[in-house]
Amino acid sequence: MDAIPYVNLAKQHAAIKAEVLAAVGEVLDRGRFILGDEVAAFERRFADLCGTRCAVAVNSGTDALILALRALGIGPGHEVITAPNSFVATASAIALAGARPVFADVGDDYNLDPERIEEAITSRTRVVLPVHLTGRPADMTAILQVAARRGLDVVEDCAQAVLAEHRGRRVGSFGRVGCFSLHPLKTLSACGDGGVLTTDDEALAGRLRVLRNLGLPARDDCVEWSGNSRLDSLQAAILLVKLQHLERWTERRRENAAAYRRELGGVDGVRVPGERPHERAVYHTFVIRARRRDDLKRRLAEEGIETAVHYPVPIHLQTAARGLGYGPGSFPAAERQAREILSLPVYPELEPAELERAARSIRRFYGG
Ligand SMILES: *Cc1c(COP(=O)(O)O)cnc(C)c1O
Repeated sequence: MDAIPYVNLAKQHAAIKAEVLAAVGEVLDRGRFILGDEVAAFERRFADLCGTRCAVAVNSGTDALILALRALGIGPGHEVITAPNSFVATASAIALAGARPVFADVGDDYNLDPERIEEAITSRTRVVLPVHLTGRPADMTAILQVAARRGLDVVEDCAQAVLAEHRGRRVGSFGRVGCFSLHPLKTLSACGDGGVLTTDDEALAGRLRVLRNLGLPARDDCVEWSGNSRLDSLQAAILLVKLQHLERWTERRRENAAAYRRELGGVDGVRVPGERPHERAVYHTFVIRARRRDDLKRRLAEEGIETAVHYPVPIHLQTAARGLGYGPGSFPAAERQAREILSLPVYPELEPAELERAARSIRRFYGG
């Protein structure tokens, strides 16, 4: 039997190759490769999609986060509260902006628990940085309430959650800034690295445009030191093609999630992710909680079904986090989840028969 890979980007591109190559050809013919019309067009479309006034495209999700924090004046002496179960980039962006990453434990939805945020606030806290992990929206109503009460800014890490909604509103439109990754493994992906920020604040968007381009508002006037975080015209042209398919791809992910729920809902030993009525999750990952996770993962691999763990080591237990004063036991929910979580293939091109085969293998493992 054919193997079922965890991701299959070749399959996505096979279906849209002619469109992508035509878009690439146009950029080659024009001969302008940095920022330019394609990037501006992508920014307009992306802002519309998220329901924000502005979008600013950059070279990665990590730089999006760093620039968002810098544009809000975050730096040495400040603390930023985020989730310990995110990809390490969330915390490294805070540290690279010069601030201190402070973690708060997460709930069963893998997202920041608003009560734990409140407990982590000190006089140095400036920003709450929720992560919409797995593509499921964090509880933005509660998080915005805590932030407003304590006078904090909110920056959203939307890297896994383009098109996700909380109470009918898209992520990236709740905080001062939303930060997205367009990495190949994300649900909207460039053919290489990319990222984008969303905001309703035109002045902030202007500052972000300067910061992504070496601090240069105009060619010969550098107003502050900054790096090069620009998105390529070629990537923007490819992204404009992919944007036309994103809603359909997202629906396919949601259908796959619903199918897994039907197939695995009653299995003793497995917990499938829920979805509350006011949420629209986009399933960047479909993460189950599995008893004897490592044995299950090994068995599935033997049967040709590739899975992944996002992420096996929480950020507060990473070597780079040693100086922050955390240790095993600091965030019990995140640490327990790290031992039990398993990401199943959920990409739009996954065939129903492949999904059923993966589910059948899981049921068999638990004796069902
Ligand atoms: C992927 C990811 C990032 C970093 O994005 P890059 O484009 O890889 O730099 C940040 N946060 C989260 C939650 C991510 O999943």
